[in-house]
Amino acid sequence: VCFQPKSVTISRTADRWFISFKLEYEPVNRPKPHPVVGVDLGIKALAVLSTGIVVEGAKAYRKYEKKLSRLQWINRHKQIGSVNWKKAQIKIARLHRKIANIRKDTLHKLTSYLAQNHSRIGIENLNVSGMMANHKLAKAIQDMGFHEFKRQLEYKCQLYGSSLVVVDRWYPSTKTCSRCHTVQEEMPLSERVFRCDNCGLEIDRDFNASINLEWFRQLGGDSLWTG
Ligand SMILES: [Zn+2]
Repeated sequence: VCFQPKSVTISRTADRWFISFKLEYEPVNRPKPHPVVGVDLGIKALAVLSTGIVVEGAKAYRKYEKKLSRLQWINRHKQIGSVNWKKAQIKIARLHRKIANIRKDTLHKLTSYLAQNHSRIGIENLNVSGMMANHKLAKAIQDMGFHEFKRQLEYKCQLYGSSLVVVDRWYPSTKTCSRCHTVQEEMPLSERVFRCDNCGLEIDRDFNASINLEWFRQLGGDSLWTG
C-alpha cells in the first residue's frame, strides 16, 4: 500500500527534531472476537475489562520521575541563563519527554487493543474536577491521562468501526452489584472488594464496576460513534 501524505509537520521538543505525516486512512471494519466490553479505569491497575482482563499500567516511568525530581533539586541554585543552567534544562526536558512517551505508548496499546477487539466499548465519563479534590486520586487520574485515553479511543473506534459508549458519570457503577443490580451504600476507596448484602456476591471492586458498564450498554447508553 502506498500512502500519499496530506501534510508534513516538523517540530522540535527539547533538543530533538520530529517529523510527522498526516495520512488519509479508510476505516477497517474487521470481525471482533468479543463484541461488547466495559472498561473501568482503576487506581491500582490501568484498566479492568468486563472480559476479566486486567491491564497493568506502565511502572517504568516511576524511576524516571524520581530521577527528574532529583535533577530539578540539584539544579535549583544554578544561575538562570548560565551555560550549566542551559545544560541542565536540556537534561530535564529530555526526561520529561521520556516519561511522556512511556505513558503515551501504554495508552496507545490499550486503546488499540480495545478498538480492534470489541465492537462496543463502554467507558465511564469521569467527574475529573470532583476527583481533583482528592489529591491522591487526582495524581492517579493524571498518570493515566483519562482525556488522552478517551481521545485515542474516539478516533480508533472510528478507524476500526467500533462504537464508543460514554456512560453517565453519575451511574453508580462501583456501588451496584453486577449480579443482582442492587445499589448499595458508597464504599470507601480503600475497600478493594465489593460485597453484596442482597445476593452475597464477593468480587474485585474494579471488575464489578467494569461488568456494570457493560450492563449500562444493554440499557441503552449515549453512543458517540457508530461503525
Ligand atoms: Zn447482589
